[in-house]
Amino acid sequence: MSADSIFSALIACLFLLLGLVWGAVLNWFAGSVTEEGELRPGPPSCSKCGVKRPAKTLVPLLGYFMAGRRCQGCREAIPARAPVVEAVTGMLFAALYLNYGLSWTLLILLIYSTVLITLFVTDLEHFILPNVVTYPSLPLAALVALAVTLAHYRLPWALFFSGSGFMALLNNFFLCALVGGLCGALLLFMVVVLSKGGMGMGDVVLAGLLGLMVGFPLVFIALFLSILAGGIIAAALLISGRKKRREMLPFGPFLCIGGIVTLLWGREILGWYLGLI
Ligand SMILES: [Zn+2]
Repeated sequence: MSADSIFSALIACLFLLLGLVWGAVLNWFAGSVTEEGELRPGPPSCSKCGVKRPAKTLVPLLGYFMAGRRCQGCREAIPARAPVVEAVTGMLFAALYLNYGLSWTLLILLIYSTVLITLFVTDLEHFILPNVVTYPSLPLAALVALAVTLAHYRLPWALFFSGSGFMALLNNFFLCALVGGLCGALLLFMVVVLSKGGMGMGDVVLAGLLGLMVGFPLVFIALFLSILAGGIIAAALLISGRKKRREMLPFGPFLCIGGIVTLLWGREILGWYLGLI
């Protein structure tokens, strides 16, 4: 091994640790969102009986096991979400560093995945995409798009549009992001109106946010992947009998997964799709 590869392996380990700790912070943050979508930060506590959890539950990965996996108050099993979120965040951070090195792309992806993982957890557990997370993320993503455009920085997921007219305008990533955000929000808004329930305005805002992050037309890939993942998981839950037909399955977590996958491989998926038709 060369000195360079040892150095980058060390940094990757550092990003893994950073992700584990950051995942624990996200867990704590998502846990302090109430059913009404308000933020009530405090020590971790049981969502059923309100009994406080020991501080050691906050330790990344191990906390869940050290706390006995059951609530001290109501003996309810503590969801295994915490160690899973921490492990995924850690591995994602390390993988992002190994792929993009120390770059602006890495920083942007760390921020975007932080937002999307948080929304994934709150929607899965509380059926809510809290405005305290989505609203500030909208101008943030627009600002990122504006900044990379002004700096002539090419994001790996920014597409090159040949030709002239409207399509050529989209080579400006800021415009591309605004069009993507509008398309995402409008499309989901139509779905919300037509489906009358099942999806809410939180999903509309999140789809708009995804559009701002990935731009046009990758926002359609993100939505397509979300619907695909949602359909597969819903079918699996129905067949295995773990969910009844009428039970609610939040759509936000699938949007978050679709968003992250699109940021990482959206270009390739679009290219593959265009090759098919
Ligand atoms: Zn409890």
